[in-house]
Amino acid sequence: MSLSYQHAYHAGGPADLAKHLVLATLLAQLTRKKRPVAYFETHAGRGLYDLGGVEAQKTGEAAEGVEAWEKALGKLPPHPFTAALRQVRAAYGPRAYPGSPLVARALLRDTDLMALMELHPAEHRALCETFDACALPGPDPLIEKRDGGEGARDRLPPSERRGLVLIDPSYELKEEYVSTGQLAMDCLVRWPEAIIAVWYPILPAGRHMDLRQKVSVLRPLVLENAFELKGGAGMTGTGMLILNAPHGTEASLSAALALGAPVLQPMPRRGKPARGAPKQGA
Ligand code: SAM
Repeated sequence: MSLSYQHAYHAGGPADLAKHLVLATLLAQLTRKKRPVAYFETHAGRGLYDLGGVEAQKTGEAAEGVEAWEKALGKLPPHPFTAALRQVRAAYGPRAYPGSPLVARALLRDTDLMALMELHPAEHRALCETFDACALPGPDPLIEKRDGGEGARDRLPPSERRGLVLIDPSYELKEEYVSTGQLAMDCLVRWPEAIIAVWYPILPAGRHMDLRQKVSVLRPLVLENAFELKGGAGMTGTGMLILNAPHGTEASLSAALALGAPVLQPMPRRGKPARGAPKQGA
């Protein structure tokens, strides 16, 4: 198992913008009803990032992502994600950026369950510190230093009926595309009412098609966007698979991602594949 990936180099990039717009949209929908929900993250990262820090400055991904987005629009548009971003900036400073755990903290209620898994010792420590001194209201998460797949298989289902599992691996090994698909399916078997959201990178090698193929039988909602990154190690787009998307979610997620323009562009399509079906040559 390789653990060399550090999300601080990519925080606030175009892929994070897409992922966090989708996550915030799903959480806002889930929390519309009063009954508590459960939120699980298998690959949490450190939760809070400094876009003025050495790592973000080195890759420039945030400058081409959330910062370019805000500059192009002139101001942040109203959306649950920007509400979370504003809260984080108010608490931690203008260049602070929320990882998915803080997006969730900002949008969940005290009564909701939040469980985060992170295997990397330093990232896990930083995640604990983020929540030890968290300035945002919301639930106190259960944080575990363990393999996210093992943790999810072990802990699901929770006693809450409704909820979300975010699976956001670093895909350092090519086998991770297929194993991530299997993990998403295993989560759904254990917790059939849950929404399962899986993020993946789109690279010229096209390995994300292995992941899409693996879960295609479940006919997931496929959300893909293209972007350009000067130093992006070949990443040309970002994708998310949503399993068990509630009725009507497709429109709100498409609208959320459309807000990401001009940083996020629609993925060029060839032909008109069926919903969830792998596209040829994508
Ligand atoms: N979800 C985060 C966000 O949006 O802010 C970013 C997560 S980052 C893409 C992936 C994280 O998974 C890294 O922090 C890495 O250390 C962690 N990781 C890698 N392998 C893992 C594993 N087997 N189990 C849990 N975490 C792992």
